[in-house]
Amino acid sequence: MSAGERRVLEAVPKELLIGGEWRPAASGRRFAVQDPATASTIAEVADGSVADALAALGAADEAQPGWAATAPRGRSEILRRAFDIITARADDLALLMTLEMGKPLAESKAEISYAAEFFRWFSEQAVRVPGNYQVSPAGNSRLITLRQPVGPVLLITPWNFPMAMGTRKIGPAIAAGCTMVFKPAELTPLSSLALAGILIESGLPPGVLNVVTTTTAGDTTGPLIKDSRLRKLSFTGSTAVGKALIEASAEQVLRVSMELGGNAPFLVFADADLDAAVEGAMVAKMRNGGEACTSANRFHVEESVATEFAARMTERMAALTVGRGTEEAVEVGPLIDAKQLDKVASLVDDAVARGAQVRCGGERGSGPGYFYRPTVLCPVPPDSRMRTEEIFGPVAPIYTFASEEEAVAAANDTEYGLVAYVYTRDLGRAVRVSEAIKTGMVGINQGVVSNPAAPFGGVKQSGFGREGGEEGIEEYLDIKYIGIST
Ligand code: ADP
Repeated sequence: MSAGERRVLEAVPKELLIGGEWRPAASGRRFAVQDPATASTIAEVADGSVADALAALGAADEAQPGWAATAPRGRSEILRRAFDIITARADDLALLMTLEMGKPLAESKAEISYAAEFFRWFSEQAVRVPGNYQVSPAGNSRLITLRQPVGPVLLITPWNFPMAMGTRKIGPAIAAGCTMVFKPAELTPLSSLALAGILIESGLPPGVLNVVTTTTAGDTTGPLIKDSRLRKLSFTGSTAVGKALIEASAEQVLRVSMELGGNAPFLVFADADLDAAVEGAMVAKMRNGGEACTSANRFHVEESVATEFAARMTERMAALTVGRGTEEAVEVGPLIDAKQLDKVASLVDDAVARGAQVRCGGERGSGPGYFYRPTVLCPVPPDSRMRTEEIFGPVAPIYTFASEEEAVAAANDTEYGLVAYVYTRDLGRAVRVSEAIKTGMVGINQGVVSNPAAPFGGVKQSGFGREGGEEGIEEYLDIKYIGIST
């Protein structure tokens, strides 16, 4: 490990944050954080349990009334200061993220910037929460609507975007005046702890943000979800866990936001600019090494251009440099852990066993880390598991279609509905297909849709609720109507 790596690791707080204090878990337990490129331990952090989580909720509950009463401008300025600090420390934060998550440094830097933008956006939204004043239809009363913070919220985030998944929940919660218990992913707790440290430095009062890192997510957060002091749950993660959490949320009738799995189709029509389509396909597939819920999980290409598209994708994918993300030339890092590596390998093996043809890759990389080679499969039998399951890795299966109708039907043939990508130069077709696809987001001639100023979210089993945009803060606000007799 280099001196720079050691320095950024040492600088991160490694305890729980409860009521403004960093403290070890009540049990004294700690857990190891691994570098997925080397499978070696890089840090140990506090392993919280129910007692810690309840203490965190107690601190959030106590801080809630005072925090709700603060001036929106004050909350806005805390977010803006945190944006400035994150931006100033982008290099160190990116290195930290690469060490615990594996993505190449350039991608970590891009995520730090994207993550910080949520704080800037919500610092601007904090002072723009709308209300309404209306004369009743009968004219004898006045109808006033206002928005108030929901109350203490539980935020649960995944490991694939360790910083951005946090800021897109914490940003609007702070802007709205909610206090929080934040449970980051156990595989990547360090970026979240660094983020919490920055918010404290930015002037966030004690108890507003509490952080509980833990290896026992279900046992530790379960009692919080059933506790009447908690008023909302915002979760990003797998559909299976999301479903269980929706069910558990019924007991206290919690407000719930869910960002779950995806099975994003990437449609290429014969009239598309093929250079742009390949460029977009590489981004849609390989951003974050394919470990994103927005990652293109299947390419559907019109028959007449499929051979050309597959050849160009194969050339691009085969040329990618795989390795430890801290090295300058590396374009694809490791997968997050052995479990994810086994899953990707088993999905490819399954497709190959059914007759898929490997154009490049199709095998694990070497080394103690969790590497898988960028892979293109074409053709792929439609009964392959990867047609319906989320791959979450650097694997591009290419299928073909014969008509617009068939393309739309293929795109919608999934229980998920997060995002779809469409490449065409025909404006009418772009509009028709966008309207017909059942997803929360559509990228037209662009391979990435994420933008802090836009509402990110899905339909069907990809979840509900939106993060970012004007809609993002609404998830943390309740509407109250006051009728005044005149
Ligand atoms: P992934 O497969 O991406 O790790 P998970 O849904 O397992 O997705 O994890 C996403 C987040 O949900 C992580 O922070 C994880 O610790 C947390 N989590 C997993 N299981 C539970 C559970 N039963 N209750 C609450 N949180 C959970």
